[in-house]
Amino acid sequence: MREPTTVRQDGLPERVTIYEVGPRDGLQNESAVVPVEVKAELITRLQAAGLPVVEATSMVHPRWVPQLADAEELLGRLDHVERLPVLVPNERGLDRALAAGVRHVAVFGSATETFARRNLNRSWDEQFAMFEPVVARALAEGVDVRAYVSMCLGDPWEGEVALDRVVETGRRLLDLGAYQLSLGDTIGVGTPGHVTALLDAFNAAGTGDDLLAVHFHDTYGQALANAYAALAHGVTTYDASAGGLGGCPYAESATGNLATEDLVWMLHGLGVATGVDLEALVATSRWLEGHLGRPSPSRVVRALAP
Ligand code: MG
Repeated sequence: MREPTTVRQDGLPERVTIYEVGPRDGLQNESAVVPVEVKAELITRLQAAGLPVVEATSMVHPRWVPQLADAEELLGRLDHVERLPVLVPNERGLDRALAAGVRHVAVFGSATETFARRNLNRSWDEQFAMFEPVVARALAEGVDVRAYVSMCLGDPWEGEVALDRVVETGRRLLDLGAYQLSLGDTIGVGTPGHVTALLDAFNAAGTGDDLLAVHFHDTYGQALANAYAALAHGVTTYDASAGGLGGCPYAESATGNLATEDLVWMLHGLGVATGVDLEALVATSRWLEGHLGRPSPSRVVRALAP
């Protein structure tokens, strides 16, 4: 069996958008540094497999993320750079992205004080002043801005994270001009009821599910259950990483982005359209294993191995 049996559930979206983060969020946390031509082929293959959005790289300083030091060279090898989102940590990163022809950028915020200081070298409150000119300048150039909110369901240093703090973080990023929030369970500790409560809290504050995406990690085996909770709630954008690539280099206990293949299997089984060709995607992750020197942690990739 190469595809699941489809059984529709009432109340679920007809179609969702998968926001593929493997080439950026995945590869930045792989110990292997993948050659630029392999990255370019990965992105091209992911697009050919039907993934509508592929975040290509990050314009972070190479000192912090040497795995992505080839960002400009990578973009120079790709067609239609204007379709590929790129993470920009600051104004310098935005300058680099604009010079490379990028038209979609993302900023990476933190719901917690400790992670803001560790990852951004700013206090929680100061991060908004850092992002403000990035977002304003991007919008003035006609470039849209997505905002990640990390540590939404738990923080490795602070433990539990208050929902109202997550909502305030997200609302301030939307107020700056971001078109969408990607709510990240950066260390993968969340459970489905927690996801529902977080989405309810955003809705209660006036932020609808149409402005929200979710970004789950499978550290505790909860990523798909959490995605189902978001689906039942009405969220229609899901971050996922081909083959379960990567995690988060700044959060010690973070492992394993939700694998795109595992998400697609569930969605197709539920009759939720994604536009993704699962076999082509699995073949891509199998091909990449050879360049990473380790097997994919995705259960679906393993199950569908020839
Ligand atoms: Mg991630």
